[in-house]
Amino acid sequence: MDISVVVPLFNEAESLPELTDWIRRVMKAHQFTYEIILVDDGSNDNSWEVIEGLYEQNPFIRGIKFRRNYGKSAALNVGFEATRGNVVITMDADLQDSPEEIPELYRKITQEKFDLVSGWKAKRYDPLSKTIPTKLFNSATRSMSGIHNLHDFNCGLKAYRKEVVKNIEVYGEMHRYIPVLAKWAGFTRITEQVVEHSARKYGITKYGGFNRFINGFLDLLSIFFVGKFSKRPMHFFGTLGTLCFLTGLGIILWLISSKLYDIANHVRYRNITDNTLFYIALVAVILGSQLFLTGFVAEMISRNSPERNNYQIDKTI
Ligand code: UDP
Ligand code: MG
Repeated sequence: MDISVVVPLFNEAESLPELTDWIRRVMKAHQFTYEIILVDDGSNDNSWEVIEGLYEQNPFIRGIKFRRNYGKSAALNVGFEATRGNVVITMDADLQDSPEEIPELYRKITQEKFDLVSGWKAKRYDPLSKTIPTKLFNSATRSMSGIHNLHDFNCGLKAYRKEVVKNIEVYGEMHRYIPVLAKWAGFTRITEQVVEHSARKYGITKYGGFNRFINGFLDLLSIFFVGKFSKRPMHFFGTLGTLCFLTGLGIILWLISSKLYDIANHVRYRNITDNTLFYIALVAVILGSQLFLTGFVAEMISRNSPERNNYQIDKTI
């Protein structure tokens, strides 16, 4: 099979017939063998009934239904496991991405031998409240990940070589950073393709609001630390810990010796504990390193927990 199209969706019933029909037309025109894997991420509209109806008409459609909403990353992860095609395309269900891009994406993977091709919505039809934070994210992600040739990490439209999706694990909200995950997994031939973008035709966005900003930033930090230091945490924590310890020790030694000096010279001296700065420094150092360590330990635990990819799958067709 040439292509598996994976579509994560949450309450997108109105878009699905149009989307699948459009994909079918493109596939037919280029004579690709394909499947469309629709992952219903616990929709509470009638998306699943629509998928069942579409499956009756088009045998290339497959469906996976979560019992509840887990988020786009979970939907992608489960969709990736189910793929059988040599090239895997992901796209959003909301008709903002155009299936017409698929042949060119396919060509880049199969002929130019790229591992991952990420769409770049050079002209984007979303409100400013989305596009400005996205710009910040993309530049932070570029510099932290060392992938300098991508403008747009979080585009829903992407193409992968089969091996990539079978070897990365998209969990939490990590769908924003799939190129980074791919790079850490050793798939370094990454490029981008300018893609058409349209305004949302039906339904509403599932990713608005301020939370997106904070969570996205924290995810970026954790992906960076996990990628860089999870195999050698001592290099990071050891350095940081030693520096903290030596600084603290230095300050204390200095305070003690200056007090001893004052005593020896019969000068009026001050208690070490009278110095406000001493407490502030102490608390900040301890709190900072503790918080960081806790975050890291939690991240490691969550990655190793056997339950992390147990999603409740209700039905499959
Ligand atoms: N989506 C999902 N689970 C969720 C939220 C969103 O599967 O919990 C899907 C959604 O149906 C769409 C895609 O992820 O197909 C992108 O979502 P959306 O279009 O709302 O995001 P935006 O384009 O506004 O960033
Ligand atoms: Mg969208």
